[in-house]
Amino acid sequence: YKKLPKMRVRHIYNAVGVEVDVDGTPKKREASLVRIAVLAKPEFPLLSVGLFALLFSSGSQIVAPLFFGLVIDAAQTSIAKLNRVVVIMLLIYGVGALASMIRAWMFELAGQRFVARLRKDVFTAIIKQEIGFFDETRTGELTNRLASDTQVVQNAVTVNISMLVRYTFQIIGSLVLMFLLSAKLTAVLLAVVPAIAVGAVQYGKFLKSLRKKFQDELADANTTAEESMSNIRTVRSFCGERKAVREYGEKIGKSFSLGRRIAVLQGVFQGGVNVMAFGAITCVLWYGGNLLYANTQDSSEGITAGVLTSFLLFTLNVAMGFAFVSALYGEFMQAVGASIRLFELLDREPKVNNQGLCRLEELRAEVAFDDVHFTYPARPGSEVLKGVSFKVDIGSMVALVGPSGGGKSTIVSLIERFYDTNQGNIILGGSNITTLDSDWFRHKIAIVSQEPVLFSCSIRDNITYGKEASIDEVIEVAKQANAHDFIMSFEDRYDTLVGERGLRLSGGQKQRIAIARALIINPQILLLDEATSALDSESEYLVQEAIDRAMDGRTVLVIAHRLSTVKTAALVIVIDKGIIVEQGTHEDLLARNGVYRKLVLRQLTSENASLTSE
Ligand code: ADP
Repeated sequence: YKKLPKMRVRHIYNAVGVEVDVDGTPKKREASLVRIAVLAKPEFPLLSVGLFALLFSSGSQIVAPLFFGLVIDAAQTSIAKLNRVVVIMLLIYGVGALASMIRAWMFELAGQRFVARLRKDVFTAIIKQEIGFFDETRTGELTNRLASDTQVVQNAVTVNISMLVRYTFQIIGSLVLMFLLSAKLTAVLLAVVPAIAVGAVQYGKFLKSLRKKFQDELADANTTAEESMSNIRTVRSFCGERKAVREYGEKIGKSFSLGRRIAVLQGVFQGGVNVMAFGAITCVLWYGGNLLYANTQDSSEGITAGVLTSFLLFTLNVAMGFAFVSALYGEFMQAVGASIRLFELLDREPKVNNQGLCRLEELRAEVAFDDVHFTYPARPGSEVLKGVSFKVDIGSMVALVGPSGGGKSTIVSLIERFYDTNQGNIILGGSNITTLDSDWFRHKIAIVSQEPVLFSCSIRDNITYGKEASIDEVIEVAKQANAHDFIMSFEDRYDTLVGERGLRLSGGQKQRIAIARALIINPQILLLDEATSALDSESEYLVQEAIDRAMDGRTVLVIAHRLSTVKTAALVIVIDKGIIVEQGTHEDLLARNGVYRKLVLRQLTSENASLTSE
């Protein structure tokens, strides 16, 4: 993930001359539609072929009612005429079928290509964001954007466009043909239908707003259920099942009372639409019947039975067309919403800017903090580091100790430049960290954390996560990390799958794999967070031995929890509430009778306490 391809979608607003707010979001909804179109540009050839085919497939459908009427009238004249009409009809349908095949294929293909590209772009935009962004954004929300928002936008580009064109075409084409068949009948129809349509649309909007409220209530209930289910152990141990059911029941009850209202209104809507639709059809039929009767009386005003049939079928087509187009409007608006969220992501520049900066000849592996102040972006109110200064010399080991919450892990995160400081400098090998290419220096630094995270892939892939390596190299580092023996005891050895779909490793085993993963990049600086959770003594010994070996000859900053580590450290730094309260060697600090001495004494008197407990 370190070498990201350049983002393709960038500053498109400027390119298409769309006005944007200061924060880069488009000012108007239309702007989003324009941008969607720009994004879909590579699909234009496919979409054009699709649209061309669409003209033929819709055309054949539009004229269908005409032929039904012609068949009825021909059947009343001669069989030869009937056959001719049917053959032409078959030909038209054949072409229409072929065209609709091409249309469906092209639109689907364009959509798939579009969404695949969009997803890659969005993921690229997400993964390059600074860590602070991930602190503040729920992962669920991001996966949602990746999975469903992209889908909604894809639909707008393909299905919706094709439907919009198709039904608009159908409405206009049918109306023209109807007009040609009988101008009078069309006039009657146009007098009744729009009034009905407007009424139905308004009512539909009202229903929709209720549905939205219903969805919100339901989401609320879901959150409650989810919390209970994912914390089932806590629920069970406090016998909280009834409470959980009660809470969920109350929320479901709320959504149900809304649902009951919707049910009634929905019924009224259906009934009303039926009454009005039949009313309109009856009007047309009655007037058409009159014209048909006039025809039998040899009046020049009249129409044939075939024409009336065609006309009624056209009416249905027009009604259907309107229904679909109004539904499409809603979907387009949804797509606009989704695309605004996506564009926000695509446009977001990471606040910690990492790449393209200076790479040194070599990293002299010293680390220095110079009056560093830091506040997490997710918690702007509280300063976590308040003027921290220290220096870790090349090849030496420095231990960080102090009460939990003091800021030790934060210091480690800052050395990896997961965040930028608010004030003060971090110096890496003589250069300010903000002037260095972070991809470059992260390759020289390795972290082994307390509870290492392994990916759900093979052990080998986990070890080589930071660097491609041959199996010999993998085995070599695994041996150094005391992991080789247990790995070889698995049936699939280095190909054994770990994580969700594979084997569950013990804490100590995970740690040793994480140490191997750190060692394979042959880091110059090692950042360690010693495990506090109790490993069994055999495992603890093996992990400790592996860590000691890994530290050898490297510059090491360790969040130390055990006495044996601090005793060997060149420098012990005691941090409390974001301030360095003491620093010196173990002996110095012991002699000083301060915070450190208290921590050490506490550890000596209590077996489980560690140097970092409060
Ligand atoms: P230590 O490693 O000494 O236990 P940390 O560096 O983890 O301390 O935490 C220092 C302070 O920063 C704590 O108050 C903690 O709540 C806060 N903190 C840690 N990580 C974050 C984060 N990602 N976002 C906001 N606050 C954080």
